[in-house]
Amino acid sequence: MTDCIFCKIIAGEISSDRVHEDDQVVVFRDVNPKARVHLLVVPRQHIASLEELGPEHDGLMGYMMRLLPKLAKQEGLEAGFRTIINTGKGGGQEIFHLHLHLLGGEKLTGF
Ligand code: 5GP
Ligand code: ZN
Repeated sequence: MTDCIFCKIIAGEISSDRVHEDDQVVVFRDVNPKARVHLLVVPRQHIASLEELGPEHDGLMGYMMRLLPKLAKQEGLEAGFRTIINTGKGGGQEIFHLHLHLLGGEKLTGF
């Protein structure tokens, strides 16, 4: 997608503070962190949101879920972490390239 910020970050056209990358995902720090650790787990493939997922994405979604605790450990989040996926304008989604927020580093308030 040519006008997608996260596609540009993945392509290296916009700089980011990357903490992990592999053949399926790029993980970088949120530019406006809501906690001491705030990572964005972003698939290399442009998928707009959870609403665009098909069965062909089941492997990717499982892969990202299993990656989360590894990233949390890498960031020293021994006490746990929070994962958020915003979907659609009603869900607070601002960037329409699917991403998982990984937050932690202090006690997070409940919902
Ligand atoms: P959403 O509301 O779509 O779930 O979250 C988008 C997130 O992307 C926000 O937390 C926002 O701070 C972050 N973000 C937006 N633009 C950039 C950027 O250019 N670089 C980085 N690292 N994060 C961004
Ligand atoms: Zn994109």
